[in-house]
Amino acid sequence: MAGYRGRFAPSPTGPLHAGSLVAALASWLDARAHGGQWLVRIEDVDGPRCPPGTDEVILGQLAALGLLPDEPPVWQSRRDDRYQAALDRLIASGRAYGCACTRAEIAAAAGPRPRHGELVYPGTCRNGTNGRPIRAWRFRAEGRIAWQDRRLGPQSQDLATEVGDFVLKRADGLWAYQLAVVVDDAEQGITDVVRGEDLADNTPRQIALQRALGLPTPRYLHTPLVLAADGHKLSKQNGAAALDLDHPVARLQEAAGRLGLTPQASASTTREALAAILLQWTALTALR
Ligand code: GLU
Repeated sequence: MAGYRGRFAPSPTGPLHAGSLVAALASWLDARAHGGQWLVRIEDVDGPRCPPGTDEVILGQLAALGLLPDEPPVWQSRRDDRYQAALDRLIASGRAYGCACTRAEIAAAAGPRPRHGELVYPGTCRNGTNGRPIRAWRFRAEGRIAWQDRRLGPQSQDLATEVGDFVLKRADGLWAYQLAVVVDDAEQGITDVVRGEDLADNTPRQIALQRALGLPTPRYLHTPLVLAADGHKLSKQNGAAALDLDHPVARLQEAAGRLGLTPQASASTTREALAAILLQWTALTALR
């Protein structure tokens, strides 16, 4: 498809593991299957959670696997001015507002409605902070967002009741993932977002932001998660090991298996393995 642009957007909180490789491989495969471009964006807005050098470790792991981006990587930590410009536009159009509430105040006012451990903001500062200093900036969440996922099918979420007015800029001055990802996907011309299913739930917030900023909405494909022995998503916290890249072909074949592909075991180089996996992915996407 002409003009396809995809991306892999890791947060460099730790090296790639078996789970993040599935998202990386799927986004690469889908871009190649569509004759498109594949980009890498380092999502390091939450600096304190990103150990120095982890970005380079991830780029090295991708290179060892033969997953090479078509353009130089982009670092979110260098793009403050873009996020500020987007926030300024949302404030000017009345879609973002300053919030003076502390966590304790939100907890006291929100009632018993935790959602993934997060409280639905009760809207206390929607009409102003009553002279209290602004701590964070929030997006005015309104209405139900319906969207189509290429794997999960039709999806829908009532933003106001299920999520509430969400944070764009945190009280500690850091940019929220939702704003940064929307600004960057648009600026990089991303047409197709392919990422892990744990992020599917963020999509309606991102679509709402795209609409408020007058930006296009890409297509979305959320890939199956790799679960740890405890049934939770594989993560550093539950023991995801960094990828053993002594055998990159085996790692690619395992990741392909998680995507429901059955590549032949005969490949001896990453280039051969990727070519075989790509043939299968292309056959599958042609059916979708
Ligand atoms: N940086 C996010 C993560 O590593 C992924 C963002 C995205 O693909 O939209 O979980």
